[in-house]
Amino acid sequence: MTGRRNRSDYSHQPRRDRMDEEHVGDPYRARGKWKEPSTCPDCGAIFHGGRWQWGAAAPGAEAHLCPACQRSRDRVPAGQLTLSGPFYAEHRDEILHLVRNTEAKARAEHPLERIMEVKDEAGKTVVTFTDSHLTHGIGEALRHAYHGELDSRYTDEGDLLRVVWSR
Ligand SMILES: [Zn+2]
Repeated sequence: MTGRRNRSDYSHQPRRDRMDEEHVGDPYRARGKWKEPSTCPDCGAIFHGGRWQWGAAAPGAEAHLCPACQRSRDRVPAGQLTLSGPFYAEHRDEILHLVRNTEAKARAEHPLERIMEVKDEAGKTVVTFTDSHLTHGIGEALRHAYHGELDSRYTDEGDLLRVVWSR
């Protein structure tokens, strides 16, 4: 299952429904056996009302890594964004600022949506994410701000969203 996701309404949709449909096999989300209340010892997110969110841990909350922190520990991203091209090379700092800024806004609302790592390799920058919707949304934000070429597809295994933006 590959193909583009056209989600121009990215930031205003509840995400969980689609995530569950598309990622029935996501071991990090399907591991939904956390007791309520639980709290993540690494980032402090709490599992409450059936989802991970920011908030104060309830007394007696169990400690369980949230899916984002588990992915970071395992070094298994859900999404990967590759940035390249002459325009990118000239505007690298500004573009990465948009990437980080978009992530910070998403993360403030959704604890599982984070950047894992930013790496430069052979004239390209590769950014990995804990969440595929965020990866897709940042690709869309780049196209919106700078145009350029955007391609977004899942790997054949369906467990990693690869987004490539170039200009
Ligand atoms: Zn966590």
